[in-house]
Amino acid sequence: MLIGAHVSPAGGLYRAIERGTALGARSIQIFNQSPRAWRPTAYTEEDFARFREARAASAIDGVLIHAVYLVNCASEDPDIRAKSIASLTQSLRVGDAIGANAVVLHSGSAKAGPVEPAIARAGEAFAAALAESDRCPLHLEDTAGSGGTLGRSFEELAALLAAGGGDPRLGVCLDSCHLLASGYEIRTPGALAGVIDDFDAAVGIDRLGSLHLNDSQTPLGSNRDRHANIGEGELGIEGARAFVNEPRFAGLCCVLETPGPDRSGPTAEEVALVMGLLRS
Ligand SMILES: [Zn+2]
Ligand SMILES: [Zn+2]
Repeated sequence: MLIGAHVSPAGGLYRAIERGTALGARSIQIFNQSPRAWRPTAYTEEDFARFREARAASAIDGVLIHAVYLVNCASEDPDIRAKSIASLTQSLRVGDAIGANAVVLHSGSAKAGPVEPAIARAGEAFAAALAESDRCPLHLEDTAGSGGTLGRSFEELAALLAAGGGDPRLGVCLDSCHLLASGYEIRTPGALAGVIDDFDAAVGIDRLGSLHLNDSQTPLGSNRDRHANIGEGELGIEGARAFVNEPRFAGLCCVLETPGPDRSGPTAEEVALVMGLLRS
């Protein structure tokens, strides 16, 4: 498992590799632009080349891009929908240019409306963005299930993949905080194994592409998305140990998106703590 952390690309994409290296990470996740604005960051070929060189010279073997939070591929609003497809396409193209393992996406929200047509709209948008980009995989992240967010259950993730046409570039990113918050008991190796059996039955284990390891401030089934530092929430240190040692997770990128002690993100100590949980 490639344990790592979400880091900032501020000051240049290649700086994300430096920050990941400073944390002792084997993988990183970045936003390809400000996550709360539509305006894309304009990168040059030189930016991409510098990133690829830095990555090749580093111990970082996995790179994930997290799509912008504003993206809602399930929106009924034609303007939001068009902006969402353009933004997701841009993330995938940056992923192509830097050789990212995947773009991780929140599938979208049905808001107060019915779920089925929302899934169909989201799937069409995924297919459109995939058609406008070359290679980078797209991983749909499971959600905590708050509001009308799509992807709260394995059945819903399977429906989203199908709505996207089942493209081989489509996969899933499982977040430990979101799993727990959406009602999946994953805190012992046995319980987690059963949950991943269910994932395999509903989605197919070969679609599992990446992982987020976060503790949860709120309890099992709370449907609230509140990340906590590793070992400081409802998942607990034994839950984190079970997660990193699940045999079917071997080899995948597993990034921390924790608040950190001063809310500036995961620290080297936290990355080392998680690496120490891994049984070799
Ligand atoms: Zn996310
Ligand atoms: Zn996540």
